[in-house]
Amino acid sequence: MPHDLIIAGTGPAGLMTAERAAAKGLDTLVLEKRKSVTDSLMGELVTDNALKLLRVKPTSDYVGNQYSAIIGESLDTGANIVVGEGLLGNSYLLDEDKCQELMRDRAEADGTEFRCGSRVQSVIKEANQVIGVKHSGGEDMASLTVGADGAFSRVSETAGFIHPKWLLSYGVRWKLADCKGVDSDTAYFYVGRDVSLGYMWLYPRSETEVNLGIGRVPSSRENWEKLPPLLEVLKKYKKRFPELRDSKIVAQNGGVVPCAGIIPRFTDAGVSLCGNSAGQVSSIVGGGVTTCFHAGALLAKHAKRAIEEDDFSRKSIQRYEKEYRRSKLAWNIQNTGKGM
Ligand SMILES: Cc1cc2nc3c(=O)[nH]c(=O)nc-3n(C[C@H](O)[C@H](O)[C@H](O)COP(=O)(O)OP(=O)(O)OC[C@H]3O[C@@H](n4cnc5c(N)ncnc54)[C@H](O)[C@@H]3O)c2cc1C
Repeated sequence: MPHDLIIAGTGPAGLMTAERAAAKGLDTLVLEKRKSVTDSLMGELVTDNALKLLRVKPTSDYVGNQYSAIIGESLDTGANIVVGEGLLGNSYLLDEDKCQELMRDRAEADGTEFRCGSRVQSVIKEANQVIGVKHSGGEDMASLTVGADGAFSRVSETAGFIHPKWLLSYGVRWKLADCKGVDSDTAYFYVGRDVSLGYMWLYPRSETEVNLGIGRVPSSRENWEKLPPLLEVLKKYKKRFPELRDSKIVAQNGGVVPCAGIIPRFTDAGVSLCGNSAGQVSSIVGGGVTTCFHAGALLAKHAKRAIEEDDFSRKSIQRYEKEYRRSKLAWNIQNTGKGM
């Protein structure tokens, strides 16, 4: 028997799609190439929208910290601006592992099967409709296949979606422990020569722990090679900030963010993309958690409708895309994309 839904990938897009689809009673199989759904870079700085979509409270264990201000600063001159809560709204640091476990557990409780260590190789097509996937463990069939498998999506590539040349931001995030006297109420963004087209961020988790990351968009290979390696940049600023001088790296994750806006089409007969694979990311700041949660929730709603109508035609699946493109979040992505 084919599944209702096969989801490739357990980033925020895949997990939210799985959680919401399973809650609606859909028979869902999730394939993830990594060994577990945790220990990855889900993205962590969010506002109230993400907590609402995740249905968790700011005071819950899923939130590692909350900030009352964000400071933007130049690494080269020290000039800075302070953005307070009035302008900013609330901003939170998610506990990524706990949030990923929460979505997985909710989906599993509603019957979803997770197969980690399963790499999707290609979609399977019949009469111009996607009917399932080939993966490292064999083949599985579904009425709807979801490519939530990130910026280099196999589902997208083999289903034939067209990606305009990706404008990719390459990022690394380090978790630092043994810091001293960090102001844990304030998050920092830094711009400057060392980060070129991009920024460095410092999100405190407590007075002794911070998450420090750097994301850069290469304007060309030649220019990228002139920039210091990301680890060198980290080491330089670890020395420069007294709070971090004696800290040690306890974890490192990396990833890419597509910053070219939403791709021209991300649905077709029997298949849909969700999250980074569809370019559903804020182009300027590279924020993708809220946009992935939003897209996943919407996709699950349309998957349920398609099941009820027994209609997985391009026209039917496109209704998700149409509703997504009309949403405020999609408008933001498109318009900040134009600003790049
Ligand atoms: C350094 C960095 C920091 C960031 N910080 C933030 C932040 O603070 N706030 C924010 O909002 N956003 C942040 N983002 C952006 C955010 O992380 C992404 O937009 C978001 O993770 C995209 O989610 P996704 O589910 O679409 O894809 P991904 O998170 O990329 O997940 C894709 C999943 O698919 C799996 N996969 C890939 N290929 C296959 C395959 N062939 N078969 C099976 N599984 C496969 C991968 O292992 C992965 O688990 C950050 C990004 C980076 C790189």
